[in-house]
Amino acid sequence: MKSLALRDLAPALLLACHACSADRDRPVSEEWEVMGTVASLSLPAADAARLQASVAAARDAMEEVNRRVSAYRPDSELSRLNASAGKGAAPVSDLTRGILLEGLRFAELSDGAFDPTVGPVVRLWGFSGGTAPAAPPDEARLAAARAAVGWRGLRVERGGARLDAPGAFVDLGGIAKGCAVDRVYERLAPGCPRGLLVNLGGNMRVAGAARPGRPWTIGVRNPFDRARILGTLELTNGMAVATSGNYERFVTLEGRRYAHIVDPRTGWPVEGMAGVTILARTAAEADGLSTACFVLGVERGRELLRRVPGSEALWIPDEQPLRLLATPGFAARFRLGAGVAAAVTVLPEPAAGPALASP
Ligand code: AMP
Ligand code: MG
Repeated sequence: MKSLALRDLAPALLLACHACSADRDRPVSEEWEVMGTVASLSLPAADAARLQASVAAARDAMEEVNRRVSAYRPDSELSRLNASAGKGAAPVSDLTRGILLEGLRFAELSDGAFDPTVGPVVRLWGFSGGTAPAAPPDEARLAAARAAVGWRGLRVERGGARLDAPGAFVDLGGIAKGCAVDRVYERLAPGCPRGLLVNLGGNMRVAGAARPGRPWTIGVRNPFDRARILGTLELTNGMAVATSGNYERFVTLEGRRYAHIVDPRTGWPVEGMAGVTILARTAAEADGLSTACFVLGVERGRELLRRVPGSEALWIPDEQPLRLLATPGFAARFRLGAGVAAAVTVLPEPAAGPALASP
């Protein structure tokens, strides 16, 4: 398991700062580690005096989400729910209930490509607290793990939740960070009328502007060279962005790399996709959609986006030469970096058609 180093955040913040010509106009930021990754909060220079108090509030909100829904903490509400799989209901707070419901919403919208109960399979490959195997699991083990997966077996009730299948395991790694960012945004944005940028491991949401008349600008990382930026995205008030990448977490088994996002239908890590970046109205939506669109690919992913108003996407297939496939709304906000040898293909609007169908 790999956690990001503090410097991993620098490109995004540097770009936010580059937009500002004078030093005194530079947004002020602070970074910290939480949920196995790096978080940061940025405010316009004019609000520097409130940075410390805002960071303290943001840290508290993120820590609380982590305490309640971490699959790594045996005392979390999520771990208690997992421990009672097949045995009955476990109590959950409103916060955990909201995140579980958001996970189920994306499971339904994506026809199970996003599945919060994918834990048994994810763990089999060595992610989310599982032990990395020496070789890819055989079909019998995959089938046994898949049998415990199924979002319809997760029931969220008033004050509690239950997992029908013994051995079921909820993993909220694909949505919890986005939910945490929204929580911070909702708490802080009303008191930051000039602007703010909340970031948790690449799940971001902004309010206002980086400085008067200058929107927040963030970098989209090159999945083939993490230290480099492919281009920049302009975010306007309330907008959220999330990226799912095959470079974020992976295991190498028998010389082959397997990424941490799995297709719940096959039990195998998704191959063929290097990264997906989503723009959406909330960070939870961006987070859920980035994981789902990573699994679904371009065509079926676009059908999913049609079900979520205001969502846009960039897909980067895991192949050379580098190709960037963007929806029109994404392309309109994206500027390719100088010297990046790639063209952006703007995907035509999908024809209105049947709802997302099973494969
Ligand atoms: P993200 O970086 O937001 O795409 O989230 C990836 C994380 O979500 C993984 O590390 C797993 O914890 C979890 N995950 C993997 N595959 C899926 C899936 N198909 N549906 C929901 N969550 C998943
Ligand atoms: Mg996600």
